[in-house]
Amino acid sequence: MVAVHHTPLIATIDQGTTSSRCLILDAAGQVLGSAQFEHEQIFPRQGWVEHDALEIWDNVRRAVSAAMVEIDAAPQDVGAIGLTNQRETAVVWDKRTGRPIHNAIVWQDTRTADVAGDDPRRWLERTGLLANSYPAGPKIAWILDHVDGARQRAEAGELLAGTMDTWLLWNLTGGAAGDAGRPALHVTDVTNASRTLLMDLRTLQWDPQLCEEVGVPPAMLPEIRPSIGEFGRARSRGILPGVPITGVLGDQQAALFGQACFAEGDAKNTYGTGLFMLLNTGPTPHISRHGLLTTVAWQVAGQAPVYALEGSVAVGGSLIQWLRDQLGIVRDAAESETLAAQVDDSAGVYIVPAFSGLFAPRWRADARGVIVGLTRYVDRRHLARAALEATCLQTLEVTEAMSADSGVAPERLRVDGGMVANDLLMQLQADVLGMDVQRPANIETTALGAAYAAGLGEGIFSSLEEIAGLVGVERSWSPTMGDKDRRKLVDGWNTAVEKSYGLAD
Ligand code: ADP
Repeated sequence: MVAVHHTPLIATIDQGTTSSRCLILDAAGQVLGSAQFEHEQIFPRQGWVEHDALEIWDNVRRAVSAAMVEIDAAPQDVGAIGLTNQRETAVVWDKRTGRPIHNAIVWQDTRTADVAGDDPRRWLERTGLLANSYPAGPKIAWILDHVDGARQRAEAGELLAGTMDTWLLWNLTGGAAGDAGRPALHVTDVTNASRTLLMDLRTLQWDPQLCEEVGVPPAMLPEIRPSIGEFGRARSRGILPGVPITGVLGDQQAALFGQACFAEGDAKNTYGTGLFMLLNTGPTPHISRHGLLTTVAWQVAGQAPVYALEGSVAVGGSLIQWLRDQLGIVRDAAESETLAAQVDDSAGVYIVPAFSGLFAPRWRADARGVIVGLTRYVDRRHLARAALEATCLQTLEVTEAMSADSGVAPERLRVDGGMVANDLLMQLQADVLGMDVQRPANIETTALGAAYAAGLGEGIFSSLEEIAGLVGVERSWSPTMGDKDRRKLVDGWNTAVEKSYGLAD
């Protein structure tokens, strides 16, 4: 079908929470083909979320094969493999059979929420993480504590553990059978390792004391590697035989890389169900005083790591879904824009979407959602606009927390995710932040980031500058709101947020 490829090609695997995808790019960074398969979401009880790791590995193989067939490419045309994955999802498997001993415990699963008792900041200085339900290490420990005999088998070296990247790399490089007499690779990259609660953020090594306290035997953990550089080669008789794997990044870090946020002070925000913002803080890990996480952004082999501050907002696009499904004031998400555009302002209405409390940077579990400032004049157009403003104002709060923690203020914000189709939202975001907002030509930033990383690791791309040149800005918005209006909007928001406090126990 596609006659000319600029070889070598790059195959990128994007293993996400709901599906596994493969994108094939050429050496000029153009996407030639892709394929995607969804996997089952398993909910054994309230708050628990699991995946079948074997189903996911199978889907990854099928996605790679289907994408290769789509563009009629031969394995020898592929020069590098990149991998990005759902972060913090934990797998424990039998080294000899290659079978997981339990379903993978997914990042969203809350069963390990009380890992640090009532002190979520217990390991903050060493790991950059809050000890809440997300990190992968306590999920591994949970499996060892709940599968018969697992802990003894782990200590005897019979079991292997890892995040999704580790599981896929082990399988890609041969699994239980190994490859041509060599055992499969049991490795992870620094960005994934930085989400376990087991890695020292500064030495980039497993910390024996953390492993002890969380309850994970170090013997079952993978070797931590830089994100960019050769990890190993895919199994010689498998899919993509002998192709080097040269870039591995957790999904949000991949998006940061895919947005070419290469300089200290570069930031991206992903507007999906929730909001995920990352700020590149360069070679220094800044431990947050404002409820943000500190994480490794990436590391090129032989170079110092690059760190990032990360802030998540629980309710982003899901507020638009709520307008659609619960209130019924829009028929689809796009209508939030056409409605909101019919009025010049939200008439003093604020929606604080604290559906399950407020996360970064306020961390108020006692908050619940409020709509304030209602008058008889207000109609659904103002509510739609207030919903978009809430998204922008929550992003402002995270941005300000990041600057306060690091002393680094971004000059512009790069954006991606489903909500960025909303042009009015983008203009409002530029207004509220008082900075330019840039939308890339291709918003598949996660998959692209892993592909760029792999291309850099293999030398297909020679430098970060070359990659930055591939990332085109499709559209940019500059602030148009006056300072006075902006201050009024932010002041009103702060008053509204205070009204949300104390509404839950
Ligand atoms: P996720 O990856 O978290 O599933 P996506 O990046 O696919 O999310 O984005 C989907 C979200 O974006 C949904 O919550 C949806 O309500 C919201 N969304 C999609 N299009 C628009 C739009 N035009 N305006 C506002 N929100 C939108």
